[in-house]
Amino acid sequence: MKHGQFRRDRLPDVRAALDMLGLTAAKVNASGYGQTFCPVHGETHPSLSIHMERGNWRCFACGASGGDVLELYRRARGLTFVQAARELGCWESQ
Ligand SMILES: [Zn+2]
Repeated sequence: MKHGQFRRDRLPDVRAALDMLGLTAAKVNASGYGQTFCPVHGETHPSLSIHMERGNWRCFACGASGGDVLELYRRARGLTFVQAARELGCWESQ
């Protein structure tokens, strides 16, 4: 199942990854963080802060956080790391 390797250089950019989750980021601040709805706990008020270039994120409502968009996508969809990497096009099969 786990034959292959993660290619970080193929991670989609933050806006593209959010789009795959049906999300858009608003109110990008001077530090580069945008606000959006948290796909981990589901909500009607945007509590998730994500850096629009680095992809690190934190939800101030449920406390979920991660270092990149792959982790956000994985948690949002309830996938394994490899499944999420495949869906995002950054898993290279051998
Ligand atoms: Zn949350």
